[in-house]
Amino acid sequence: MNILLIGSGGREHALAWKLAQSPMLDKLYAAPGNPGVAEHAEIVALDLTDHAAVSTFCEAHRIGLVVIGPEAPLVDGLSDSLRAAGFSVFGPSRLAAQLEGSKGFTKDLCMRANIPTAGYVRASSAEEAHAAVSRFGAPVVVKADGLAAGKGVVVAMTLEEAQAAVDDMFDGAFGNAGAEVVVEEFLTGEEASFFALTDGATIVPLASAQDHKRVGDGDVGPNTGGMGAYSPARVLTPELEAQTIARIVGPTVKAMADEGMPYSGVLYAGLMLTEDGPKLIEYNARFGDPECQVLMMRLESDLVELLLACADSKLSSIESPRFSADPALTVVMAAQGYPGVPKKGGRIDGIRAAETSGAKVFHAGTELGIDGVLTAGGGRVLNVTARGTTVRAARDAAYRAVDAIDFPEGFCRRDIGWREVEREG
Ligand code: ATP
Repeated sequence: MNILLIGSGGREHALAWKLAQSPMLDKLYAAPGNPGVAEHAEIVALDLTDHAAVSTFCEAHRIGLVVIGPEAPLVDGLSDSLRAAGFSVFGPSRLAAQLEGSKGFTKDLCMRANIPTAGYVRASSAEEAHAAVSRFGAPVVVKADGLAAGKGVVVAMTLEEAQAAVDDMFDGAFGNAGAEVVVEEFLTGEEASFFALTDGATIVPLASAQDHKRVGDGDVGPNTGGMGAYSPARVLTPELEAQTIARIVGPTVKAMADEGMPYSGVLYAGLMLTEDGPKLIEYNARFGDPECQVLMMRLESDLVELLLACADSKLSSIESPRFSADPALTVVMAAQGYPGVPKKGGRIDGIRAAETSGAKVFHAGTELGIDGVLTAGGGRVLNVTARGTTVRAARDAAYRAVDAIDFPEGFCRRDIGWREVEREG
């Protein structure tokens, strides 16, 4: 089967690497891809906003499955257009992707389906938002409704900070994404992510992970797209995972189907493990980046079979996916300056040496020059990923590989997995 993979991050390199291991794959195409994806796929130039052009490409290249990695094309309805043209697509419809694309939509769904989440108020004016902030009191969370690349959330420790966030958002700091604001009760607990495949009816649990959003060691500094992750997150015990499926993921899938927007794809639940059990912080309509890298590192089943069954509503007829019991951990190497303006062009050497001991280096923002020199082309550049019998062993293997990479204009956190390493003792 020929497959078209959409996206250009470390997540897509991990997906390409795993798809390429499947005996079901004939040829993999990718748009826009990256130099790591290009090791497994033919890179094609496609304007992803031109749905008719993507469809024409799929027709011409007999594409049997389209895998959409990132959220933007999902929220833009690419999967709807391709499905309407008769293609099998892994990734939710535009309406279903509202679970990620609109925080207010998801909060209202949680209310209707009695799903545990933080108390909230949707506000379409600064006055309403200020009133809600005063009512909740500090600390309080202020969120732009739409997609803001992880930057549209302010966890405000004081009322002043919250009021300033409200004013910023209504002053257009996040463009249209901030035309509506969600003010939320502040939750305390440890965060974990849970991933499941669903075709709208059947739910197939995948695995858990924990990411590290802050840029600095010890979880300090500004938020990023994610500086590293490990899987499984044992803090999400089997009992808490069962609660997550029964009280959060299951009712969500049912409500979406009942309301005529069946969700098909991977559902990524961002959870706060509170004293009262898991509560939903957010949904993402795609694999996380970098969580996908650790999930793929542990997945032992055929990814093509899984994603195709999901796309074709046949999840009820497949075997449960198998994951290695060994944890996996990934360390993000970023260009200096990230998450602000990253320093581009820094030379990268030593990836092959880093991989000799079984680690895998997934590319994110890399560029390959015609001279064969690899350089940094974006904020998050490499995802150095390894497995081990414990999180500590996986972490040590990943950092050995990091240390074999020569990327003087890059940096990484040195403490990925610290919570679990502490628990392991
Ligand atoms: P992402 O980059 O994961 O897409 P996002 O912009 O969609 O993030 P959220 O996941 O909703 O935003 O929130 C970002 C972070 O803010 C969370 O990971 C969590 O640490 C914190 N947060 C969000 N909501 C709450 C809450 N109600 N109480 C406490 N912390 C919260």
